[in-house]
Amino acid sequence: MRTIGHWIGGRPSTGSATRHAPVFDPATGAEQARVVLGEAADVDLAVRAAAKAFESWGTASLTSRTRVMFRFRDLVERHLDELAELVAAEHGKVVDDARGEVVRGMEVAEYACGLAELLKGEYSQQASTGVDVFSVREPLGVCAGVSPFNFPVMVPMWMHPVAIACGNTFVLKPSERDPSASIRIAELYAEAGLPEGVFNVVQGDRVTVDALLDHPGVAAVSFVGSTPVARHVHERAGRSGKRVQALGGAKNHAVVLPDADLDFAADQIAGAAYGSAGQRCMAISAVVAVGDAAGPLVERLAERARAIKVGPGRDPGSEMGPVVTHASRERITAIIEGADGVLVDGRDVAVPGHPDGFFVGPTLVDGVTPGMEVYTEEVFGPVLAVLRAETLDDAIEVINANPYGNGTAIFTNSGEAAQTFRRRVHVGMIGVNVPIPVPMAYHSFGGWKDSLFGDTHVHGPEGVRFYTRAKVTTTRWPRSTPAGHTSLSFPTSA
Ligand code: NAD
Repeated sequence: MRTIGHWIGGRPSTGSATRHAPVFDPATGAEQARVVLGEAADVDLAVRAAAKAFESWGTASLTSRTRVMFRFRDLVERHLDELAELVAAEHGKVVDDARGEVVRGMEVAEYACGLAELLKGEYSQQASTGVDVFSVREPLGVCAGVSPFNFPVMVPMWMHPVAIACGNTFVLKPSERDPSASIRIAELYAEAGLPEGVFNVVQGDRVTVDALLDHPGVAAVSFVGSTPVARHVHERAGRSGKRVQALGGAKNHAVVLPDADLDFAADQIAGAAYGSAGQRCMAISAVVAVGDAAGPLVERLAERARAIKVGPGRDPGSEMGPVVTHASRERITAIIEGADGVLVDGRDVAVPGHPDGFFVGPTLVDGVTPGMEVYTEEVFGPVLAVLRAETLDDAIEVINANPYGNGTAIFTNSGEAAQTFRRRVHVGMIGVNVPIPVPMAYHSFGGWKDSLFGDTHVHGPEGVRFYTRAKVTTTRWPRSTPAGHTSLSFPTSA
C-alpha cells in the first residue's frame, strides 16, 4: 500500500508516522493509499523549518521572490493535466472540472507574481515641514493553512502563493481525504527555486490542526472547511494571539424571477448544483422560485437532472463523479430518504462496473420549506431544494434568515430587481445571471455570517493585508537645531 507523507524543510518525510488514514478511490470504493497523520512533533519540525527559512525569505529581494513565483506559475500550467488527474483520482470529480480548479488556483499565483506592485507601500512627502511619512507592509513570519477536501489544489492556492509572495513561509495541512496534490505542489515550488523550508506540508487530522493552532511559532492561520470547525479554529487560534481567517460552510440560494430566461437559468443552476457532485462551497443547493417562475423552472430542472451522466471522474464520458467517501454517501442518502417532495431521486443511481463506488445521482426536491432538514443541513451532495416565494422581497427574506452567507445568485432580466437584490442580501459574493460568483484572484473571496469567522477575505487585496502588517516611519533630517528647544506638547503638523 502506497504511503503519502509530509514535505518538511524541502524534502519528503514520513515523520513520526504512528497513525494513518485510508485514502480511497471514490469511483471504486477501494482504498488506494494511506496517508500519515502528523503529530505535534511533526508540526513542530515543520514550523521550525519554516521559521528558519523565514530568516532569509522574509528579506529576500522583491525581484528574486517575483522570479520564483513566475517559475512556479509556469510549472503549474505545464503540469495542469497531471494535477487534474491527481485531484480526480482522490477527490472523485471529473477531470475537466479538476482542470478548472487548477486554473483558478493558478490565477492566484498569477496575482502573486505582481508582488512588487502589491507591496509598494505609501509615501507622504512634507507631511509636516521637513517631515516625510512612509508606510510599508512587512511579512508576519510562519503562516499556516488548513484546507478542505473539496478543492485540494485551488483552496490551498487561495493562501500559499499570496503568503509566500509577501515574504512569509508556510505550513499547509491539507485534507486527509485527498492529500497527494499538495505534495506535488511542494515539488513544483522546489523546482521553481523556492528555498527549502519556505513551503511545508504536514498531513494529518484534527490532532495536527490543533498542534498548529497552539504552536507559538505560527503567526497566522487561514482555514477553509465546515462551519463548526471554522468556529473552533477561529476561537482556538485567536486564544493564542494568532491572526486568523476561517471560512466556513454554505447554503447558496439562486433566486429566479419570472422575467428570467428560464432555459438559461435552468442550465446554469443545474451546472452549479450538480457540478462536482454538489461538493463545492459555492454550489447552488437551494432555488427560490418567485411567482410564476416555479412550475416551468422545476420542469426544466428535472429534465436536466435526469440527463446528467454519472460515472467515474476519470472516464471522459462522465459529467458528474461520486461523492468523496462512503460516509458522505450515507449521510446524503439519509437526508434524501427523510425529504418530502423528491422529484428526481439519486439514491438508486447505478454505474456499470462500479458497484462499490460512492455514487449518488442528481436529486431534485420540490416544495421545500425552511424548516426541512434538506434545507437546514449543508447537504454537500448533488441535492437541489426548490423553495417558492411570492415576491422578490420574500425571496430576500428567506436568504437573509439563513445562518450562512457565502454566495447567492439572481436570474432576471431586470436591472432594477438585480440592483435591489445586490443591495439587500446579507451575503458576501453575489452573481447576477452568474450561478457561481467566485471572484477573480485580484478581488477577494469570502462570505458573511456563519460562512466566515475573522476580518478578511482570502486572496486579492484582502489576502495581501492578511499576510502582512503595516510599518509606518516618520522621518526628519534637521539641518541645524538650535539648542534648548525641548517641547513636551504632543507633536502637531506645521
Ligand atoms: P472539514 O471542516 O471537515 O475539514 C476541513 C479541514 O479541517 C480538514 O483539513 C480536516 O482535517 C480539518 N478538521 C476536521 N475536523 C477538525 C476538527 N474537529 N478540529 C480541527 N481540524 C479539523 O471540511 P471538509 O469536509 O473537508 O470540506 C467541506 C466543507 O468545507 C463544507 O462545509 C464546505 O462548505 C466548506 N468549504 C468552504 C469554503 C468556503 O470558501 N467558505 C470552500 C471550500 C469548502
